Amino acid sequence: MPDVETFKRYFDATSLHQRITGVDVRSAYVLKGVSARELTRRLKGGSFESSRRHGKHLFVRSDGDFWVRLHFGMTGSLQYFKCDRRAPKHTRVLFAFVNANCLAFEDQRKFGEVGLIENVNEFLTKRALGPDALDISLSQFRKIFGKHRGAVKTILLNQKLIAGIGNIYADEILFHTRIHPAAEIGRLGEKTVGRLFRTTRYILQKAIEAKADVDLMPKSWLMPHRGKGGKCPRCGRELKSATIGGRTAWFCAHCQKRR
Ligand SMILES: [Zn+2]
Repeated sequence: MPDVETFKRYFDATSLHQRITGVDVRSAYVLKGVSARELTRRLKGGSFESSRRHGKHLFVRSDGDFWVRLHFGMTGSLQYFKCDRRAPKHTRVLFAFVNANCLAFEDQRKFGEVGLIENVNEFLTKRALGPDALDISLSQFRKIFGKHRGAVKTILLNQKLIAGIGNIYADEILFHTRIHPAAEIGRLGEKTVGRLFRTTRYILQKAIEAKADVDLMPKSWLMPHRGKGGKCPRCGRELKSATIGGRTAWFCAHCQKRR
């Protein structure tokens, strides 16, 4: 989610309060629950007024009092540029503003989504998304860990329990708390769950400060070392990978014990 929060800040800094002069849908299948024609009709002549993020979703409020929902999938991003320049190669939807600037929603692998919704809270309820990982309280966090069973990483990734923790951030959080990703949460203990809560917040906030750019993450983090042949920045041993909860986990088998 630090990437989505970074897109939110970028959006807020570039695209608010300017009249939208056109919407160009170049790849209609990123559209979810709205046609290209309807999206254009409802946005043209209006403006974006504010934005809100929940988990991995970014919601942008139009002055017409409806919301555009952006989900960035694996490779989605935003690019704001002068409209007379060539749009990014993988532009799926292009918003043009009265000041001759454009905002491209680009997405190479096309797992991204652009939707139109009337009410954000209704959407969150319908999707049954959990509280946002940066808003969740310690007592909510404890409750989740008390009520469920399974591998700790699977719980962290479950968007219906906590919204916004992606695969690489779950690995990072577990590396910092020295918990094995497959550790059974029922055996973690109250102190460890408290540490997990604080570390989650810390890692996400630090990553947002680094604009979710792996090149700007501390070298003491797992992220710059993830992948085949990567070494643990703490003990120097080779990192291991395993499939947990359907996703590839990277971890240090020496520093992260199953307990
Ligand atoms: Zn290690």
